[in-house]
Amino acid sequence: MSLICGAAMIPELYESVKLANGTCLNDTDSQSHPDPTIIARSGHSISRKNISTNALKVLNRLGNAGYQAFLVGGGVRDLLLKLNPKDFDIVTDARPEEIRLLFRNCRLIGRRFRLAHIHFGREIIEVATFRAAVTHEHQNRRQADSGLILQDNVYGSIDEDIWRRDFTVNALYYNTADFTVWDYTSGMEDITKRRLRLIGNPETRYREDPVRMLRAARFAAKLDFEIAKDSAKPIRKLGKLLRDVPPARLFDETLKLFHSGHALRSLELLIEYDLLSYLWPHAAELLCRDPEGSVLKFLQLGLANTDRRIKEKKPVTPMFLYAVLLWHPICERATEIVKKRKATEIEALLDASEEIVSEQQNYTSYPKRFSTPMKDMLVMQRRFGRRRGMRGLRLLSHKRFRAAYDFLLLRTQCGEEDKELADWWTEVQVMSVRDQRKVFGVKRSPRGSRTSADPGTGATR
Ligand code: ATP
Ligand code: MG
Repeated sequence: MSLICGAAMIPELYESVKLANGTCLNDTDSQSHPDPTIIARSGHSISRKNISTNALKVLNRLGNAGYQAFLVGGGVRDLLLKLNPKDFDIVTDARPEEIRLLFRNCRLIGRRFRLAHIHFGREIIEVATFRAAVTHEHQNRRQADSGLILQDNVYGSIDEDIWRRDFTVNALYYNTADFTVWDYTSGMEDITKRRLRLIGNPETRYREDPVRMLRAARFAAKLDFEIAKDSAKPIRKLGKLLRDVPPARLFDETLKLFHSGHALRSLELLIEYDLLSYLWPHAAELLCRDPEGSVLKFLQLGLANTDRRIKEKKPVTPMFLYAVLLWHPICERATEIVKKRKATEIEALLDASEEIVSEQQNYTSYPKRFSTPMKDMLVMQRRFGRRRGMRGLRLLSHKRFRAAYDFLLLRTQCGEEDKELADWWTEVQVMSVRDQRKVFGVKRSPRGSRTSADPGTGATR
């Protein structure tokens, strides 16, 4: 989804922006609107056959109604890089209300930033109206002392809209009217050089919206791009600004970072740029104490596992991701609890999960629908040791068995648990019910259990 919410760019804050046509935009040029370099069809590799038909329909209808309409953002970037775009974002000079009049299947969303969503069955094409680059004093824009843009709702033209985008490679506009690509910021050159470069003064742009630092890491991981020196330099100093970003937005951003098939590389970059502690303070602290130790190995294996599942088109869930990131901090807290007061291992683990999850909510939110099953899954790690009796047998039909078992395998891979135990659970889950009962020494099946723990049916991730 493309929200350039809060992402407005203020030309007069640029120190010196090199434009695609070779000119420079600086303080004195602030209100100038330079011409783009227009790349003809023969000069780029975008083909309409790789663009969603629904996006083309929207572009054509807007064009036929006399509006300008461009494909922009990740769609254009990914097509140029021969990747499969995740979504197609459109930008136009039509106002949201005008867009609505053109499409019966259109819904306007967002109060602060009106956007049109055109629904085609399950596909939603997002259409944004060009936004203007406006001054600090503009009545429709509010900016905090830190530079953070709080509210921003002024429409403009394409040559204003461009400055509000984050990276030059995300600011290429594809015009279906004549199949040209409009490049104001040398984005094409950066695509060729595989380089992420922020438009404008990097520090200003990060201050306007600190999430751009996470986007830098995310795109660098996803595209295997290098972050340009100027754009990389302020990140370590400004990471702390992420504290001002609402946890709900950081939750969304976390999922984009870790559930897009490049989680392992994203983690490396977050560590390299000192950003991890603003998302995952507990894990960051453990890594800080022992940068090359078992926690790192566990995170690497867990995230590589997530990347592999995505590649294999298997489902992934935040529950497992958070479990990977919070497991060691929770175990450490549980050990402290046991030292402080009388508690069983499982009680301590539950209390520790409660505490760590609630502390985590101050950074990235973590909806209950994921945190509650995660706690079950973590507690099951301590129950796998029970290989006799009804309680052990019941684990096999537990809703979280499959996820908990996957997690056990991960722990085993890291040497935290005996391989023999994991192998035992691997074997027992495919046995007949009769054999399972025999193994657990139980005379009857637990109530509501499946006939046997089919490794496929228990999958929750
Ligand atoms: P992908 O969809 O592959 O994650 P994308 O570049 O399309 O990548 P979106 O979040 O869909 O990313 O945003 C679409 C476009 O909106 C971006 O390419 C960029 O031009 C602009 N944009 C999004 N978020 C921001 C931001 N925080 N600051 C500035 N521009 C942004
Ligand atoms: Mg997108």
